[in-house]
Amino acid sequence: DRSLSKNELEEDHELEASLRPLSFDQFVGQTQVISNLQTYIKAATLREEVLDHVLLSGPPGLGKTTLARIISRELGAQITITSGPVLKIAGDLAGILTNLAHGDILFIDEIHRMYPAVEEFLYSAMEDFSIDIMIDQGPSARSINLKLKPFTLIGATTREGLLTAPFRARFLIHEKMSLYPVDDLFKIIQRSAKILNCSITDQGAMMIASRCRGTPRVANRFLRRIRDVAQVHTEDGVVDDKVAAQGLAMLGVDESGLDKTDRRILQTIIDYGGGPVGLKTLAIAVGEEDDSIESVYEPFLIQEGFLQKTSRGRKVTMKAYDAMGVKTQRQDSL
Ligand code: ADP
Repeated sequence: DRSLSKNELEEDHELEASLRPLSFDQFVGQTQVISNLQTYIKAATLREEVLDHVLLSGPPGLGKTTLARIISRELGAQITITSGPVLKIAGDLAGILTNLAHGDILFIDEIHRMYPAVEEFLYSAMEDFSIDIMIDQGPSARSINLKLKPFTLIGATTREGLLTAPFRARFLIHEKMSLYPVDDLFKIIQRSAKILNCSITDQGAMMIASRCRGTPRVANRFLRRIRDVAQVHTEDGVVDDKVAAQGLAMLGVDESGLDKTDRRILQTIIDYGGGPVGLKTLAIAVGEEDDSIESVYEPFLIQEGFLQKTSRGRKVTMKAYDAMGVKTQRQDSL
């Protein structure tokens, strides 16, 4: 991988921002989540109350940050965006909280990775919009109670199970996002292609849609790379299924939609006789963090029926043997 220059990074950022839906209308799919959120927003607005705290969970790249931005626009509120691991001490959070105006949104990404002391500091802020801060040191140290303006916390997590019970209980709205069906991804790709001024055939869009691991962020990334392929390797610059197939091969995505890491995961388990293999062992063998195996790779492999989670570890399915082209072993171990 070559590193990107600062200009390229900024351009990248701009391009990515241009693809981001700005309203519920532009947001494709997740219809149940959207309709629930619209109801809660409407009810809070009618009652002239601040929206209850919201917990959004699901694998990365499904639109949690995008939804938080849309919610803040709908409410006509400002949004402050931060991330769990960035807040090292309670003071980091106190500064942010005291700057929020009435009804503002505080978005904390990777909320399952907050430091415990900072998380506990957040409890009273969430519950009765007040915080206790320590002033002075030594014998004259004392804590004062500070009132905050009512705000809405939107937490996003890829690992809902890692949230402590008291923390989770303070979010009154829980919405789970799931991987997108191909039809939705097809629409997202067509929308993005239009914004990027890229001509794409239905077959081309369908091929990308069916191999982007159910994830809009991946779909957009693939589209941009495949657009490059069309620009360089065709006369008209059109992304059809041939160009899409060529681009996906360059990106290391196979016909089953598996990428290099997916295949490494499946191959490792196959090498262990098809499993069960424990998460730690798998993570070490594959050279990835167990967190990213669990939140990024597994949801897709399980949904597509390549992998099963059992109480003793991960096992591959018949479909995985087929996809990996392992024929003989399959008979023995199934
Ligand atoms: P997350 O916060 O869940 O990791 P993001 O909100 O950053 O995901 O979404 C990643 C990108 O995918 C966004 O910039 C947006 O362009 C695109 N995206 C996500 N969800 C949708 C959707 N439902 N419709 C259209 N584009 C989407």
